[in-house]
Amino acid sequence: MNILEYMETHGHEQLCVFTDKGVGIRAFIAIHDTTLGPALGGVRTWPYKSEDEALMDVLRLSRGMTYKSAAAGLNLGGGKAVIMANPQEKTEAMMRAFGQFVESQGGRYITTEDVGATTQDMEWIAQETSHVTGLPVNQGGSGDPSVMTGYGVYQGMKACAMEVWGTDSLEGRIIAIQGFGKVASYLVGHLLEEGARPIVTDINPAALKRAREQGLEVVEDPSAIYDVECDIFSPCALGAILNDGTIPRLKCKVVAGCANNQLLEDSHAVALRRRGILYAPDFIINAGGVINISLELGQPYDEEAALEKTAHIYDTVERVISMAKTEGITTAQAADRLVEERIAAMRRVKGIYL
Ligand code: NAD
Repeated sequence: MNILEYMETHGHEQLCVFTDKGVGIRAFIAIHDTTLGPALGGVRTWPYKSEDEALMDVLRLSRGMTYKSAAAGLNLGGGKAVIMANPQEKTEAMMRAFGQFVESQGGRYITTEDVGATTQDMEWIAQETSHVTGLPVNQGGSGDPSVMTGYGVYQGMKACAMEVWGTDSLEGRIIAIQGFGKVASYLVGHLLEEGARPIVTDINPAALKRAREQGLEVVEDPSAIYDVECDIFSPCALGAILNDGTIPRLKCKVVAGCANNQLLEDSHAVALRRRGILYAPDFIINAGGVINISLELGQPYDEEAALEKTAHIYDTVERVISMAKTEGITTAQAADRLVEERIAAMRRVKGIYL
């Protein structure tokens, strides 16, 4: 892998490498863009098969964080960390060594939870650095970000409904949800409150059991969720599920869900548009979690402020739809443009000598 060329092409600022054989840690921090502020992004612990695989992941994910925070109007840049290890093998020493690695960045990178991380890890990391957010509520933190992510997806869905049906009420709307995990559970709470009709599926029988116990309609075969006649299809499980195989099967007018990187390729946004399906760009609609943890930084966490800021996802989705229509581009392209314009404008502001 030609790292420097990849970084230059994709606009990365910095890549940091850390090892401590004594505690068995090998980790990378990637800082993509700090024009808007310090680079925020979670630490992922994963048994990567190779250094190349870990590097590609950390570089790709850090760029995604730049876009997510910028689109949410936060004064934060994009970063990410990966630890090459099996999450089950994590130790206090490893996490504290990682905390020192974060501290050594002097605040250019702020860490938080990601795949393979627990609140216990965050507590250990916080012993070594103050540049950590997403702490448990009992430590003055904001707790589980899924609550706000679910609320943001709900707001984004309403903005899409307004565009497609001329009303943002979701009453009576059938919403097919792929994955009934943390975010989807909070989302369903809002949907039921508004009189919508969620239909859920999951590969985990325990999640389906929980759904049935709540009186929800369930699709037993997870792969059949793409064929459900619905108003909104909501991907809340995995990435890359909008592709050549699934898009022709969709029977909805809107795609709006929390999963990251839903489009397998950029061209799939065009495929959705051709089918007359409105796509809510994932990094815009699932930003509730990052908005939530950003409100822990440098101030006591304020849930009301987090709800208010997350509700603006509605306005951002509206703006993206309007830009896409005016410029004849896909909503995915409009979302990218929105971010790139904000970063370019702030870069100009920062260029002024004071
Ligand atoms: P989760 O692990 O609680 O839920 C995901 C659910 O999807 C699980 O129940 C899992 O069994 C199910 N699933 C996996 N593969 C499936 C498949 N092929 N078909 C149907 N179900 C399947 O995770 P979560 O925190 O709810 O996050 C869901 C998605 O949203 C992830 O892609 C995550 O990266 C993204 N996301 C989450 C947050 C957050 O605040 N938690 C923020 C932004 C983005």
